[in-house]
Amino acid sequence: MWSFLFSLVVLSANPDPGWFSARESDIEDAKCLPARVPEATELWTEIATNFSVDELEATFNDLHTEFPVQLKGEQRKKEIYVQLLQDYLGNEGVLLAFIHIEFGFNAVQFSRIEQESLYLAFSAMPKGFHSPKKNMKLKRVEMIDQGVLANATLSFSNLWLMQNGAKRIYTVIHELAHLFDFDASDSENWRNISGFPRIISKNPQLKESTLVSKYAARNQWEDFAESVSAYRLNPWRLLLASQEKYDWIRWQVFGGKQYLRMADCDVESIFSEVSDELRDEKIRELVPYPYIAGALKVAKMFY
Ligand SMILES: [Zn+2]
Repeated sequence: MWSFLFSLVVLSANPDPGWFSARESDIEDAKCLPARVPEATELWTEIATNFSVDELEATFNDLHTEFPVQLKGEQRKKEIYVQLLQDYLGNEGVLLAFIHIEFGFNAVQFSRIEQESLYLAFSAMPKGFHSPKKNMKLKRVEMIDQGVLANATLSFSNLWLMQNGAKRIYTVIHELAHLFDFDASDSENWRNISGFPRIISKNPQLKESTLVSKYAARNQWEDFAESVSAYRLNPWRLLLASQEKYDWIRWQVFGGKQYLRMADCDVESIFSEVSDELRDEKIRELVPYPYIAGALKVAKMFY
């Protein structure tokens, strides 16, 4: 059911620009995206500086397939785990380590060029969005279904690799939105905003003018994933289509962080300011409409 409902499908070789919520040129113009993948030495320095000995140990053992290594006493130092990771993965594998320790995903099945797209897409989301320490496996498959790039179980097909970099990033963000949406997109709030009924119906009371793409018209889940992708990569489109959807996604998914202008890049999401326990209270203070308490927490249990 998941792959059927939540697959990202290309219906024709040359899709209408309105099929997805951001065109290649929109994605290239998107604000606050990293300009490049950092050099291996920069990433190793970040790994050595920003993470604890427990996090380094977990990353090494999750990526190291042979046997677990648990150092004790004097040996149990950050530098030793960093050295183990470097020896095991080499500079070619630094992205694998970084994607695991920073974002919580295990991308061992992916090539270097694929890992670069994953890194750029994960980095596009606000601080606090990801759920590190989860070791969630990303799957690389030959094919899912005819014309399918990826699905919400985070399987990515050869067709995904054949897309250009911008489209690959778009696909990852779309699927991240599905991963997030267990509580959010099926909620009363979202259905009221989008007009999709609880049961899939042939005649939903769709608010068509609020849809950011043709793909979003499929159901409330695709509407959600497409709206989240638009929010991140083509935000004016969503804002102009529906201020209500924009505001809702702004707080539920992005913790208030926006991407409309360059100046937005300097403002962090509230996820990085408040603890998980205080987050719901803080968001309730800030949003002028019903907020789903714990939406992000619920999402993180699955993610
Ligand atoms: Zn989808």
